[in-house]
Amino acid sequence: MTLRTIESLGSLAGKRVIVRCDLNVPLKDGVITDDGRIRASLPTINELIHAGARVVVVSHLGRPDGAPDAKYTLAAVAQRLCELLGKPVTFAQDTVGTGAHEAVDALQDGDVALLENLRFNAGETSKKDEEREAFAKRLAVFGDAFISDGFGVVHRKQASVYELAKLLPSAAGLLIATELDVLDRLTEKPAKPYAVVLGGSKVSDKLGVIAHLLPRVDSLLIGGGMMFTFLAALGHQVGSSLLEKDQIDTVRGYLDEARARGVEIVLPTDVVVASKFGADAEHQVRPVDSIESSPWGSSGLGLDIGPDTAARFAEVIRASETVFWNGPMGVFELAPFAAGTRTVAEALTAVNGLSVVGGGDSAAAVRTLGFHDEQFGHISTGGGASLEFLEGKRLPGLEVLGWQ
Ligand code: ADP
Ligand code: MG
Repeated sequence: MTLRTIESLGSLAGKRVIVRCDLNVPLKDGVITDDGRIRASLPTINELIHAGARVVVVSHLGRPDGAPDAKYTLAAVAQRLCELLGKPVTFAQDTVGTGAHEAVDALQDGDVALLENLRFNAGETSKKDEEREAFAKRLAVFGDAFISDGFGVVHRKQASVYELAKLLPSAAGLLIATELDVLDRLTEKPAKPYAVVLGGSKVSDKLGVIAHLLPRVDSLLIGGGMMFTFLAALGHQVGSSLLEKDQIDTVRGYLDEARARGVEIVLPTDVVVASKFGADAEHQVRPVDSIESSPWGSSGLGLDIGPDTAARFAEVIRASETVFWNGPMGVFELAPFAAGTRTVAEALTAVNGLSVVGGGDSAAAVRTLGFHDEQFGHISTGGGASLEFLEGKRLPGLEVLGWQ
């Protein structure tokens, strides 16, 4: 791990420093519903303020179509950033236009400006190298140095993540350093026993992670929608539950590999089966070998792990020194199917070693179920980025900062 650090840039007093953050927070009717990503960006911004730098924060929000769109303005984020920093933040009405130039030119040492949404410009995410380079050049004029701290986007080869880092003296910020430190502990010599808990909707999203982590873990616990592909691989009927038929053979291969390596794959023994997808659905707990014996037969839907399974998962988790969890155990958004996810989250809070929650929906799940970030060792701000890291992939936004 050889990421360039902020210190490597020398004194930043009086210098204009562009900081790429991931301030892509969820909004409902223009109101921020979870400011976790803004809070996670504060350490680096505060450090730069204290160093006397002129801080130019840039970020994307949502997926606008490469042009200004009022729905995706960062105005509410600027307001929240200002409250959290306890000092004024100048909000520029555009990203590289006159508004941005005026905002940056007016900065004094220790001041902060936030430029409008990077993705209001097609060059940010363009597939064409030269278009990304051209946009990065227009951003680079605002800085004497660049700090990359948007961990959630380091797996993306985008102008403000990759090309910009090549145009200015650049380094990784404190959030990226923290995230990598944790991910490193999950891949290089993790404290044992090591359990990985996977759930969520699609097994095909997580195959790379299973393949890369299987040689490193002691137990792999499978819940969520992906459990049904595993259960089908063992010959069970799964009703109308989520099933990826084309992945059954791959999953069988993992079961064989796990057996050969002495890794325990812990699969559900009971499932909450529902009459339909909805908070008002009728439901009952069924053993996994009789999912279709419910009153709804082959139209029954498995929407959560059952209580016996949840208890067994909790036992394995609590007995582990390192736990990585990605993907809710059931449809936690609907109250009757949140119990499995709640039990697993509770067990993670009781881990003595390192407990890590990764994945956007998993982080949202623990927060909406009333847990606090401090109860876990770490909640990753980057779902896709952390998964790609755990798959052993090269991440362009890290490589450009000297990582190998
Ligand atoms: P993350 O964002 O944490 O990586 P995913 O995106 O993979 O997680 O999956 C999250 C979604 O999986 C949630 O919206 C949840 O409702 C859904 N899910 C979990 N269990 C099931 C299930 N048994 N059937 C259908 N969907 C499920
Ligand atoms: Mg998700």
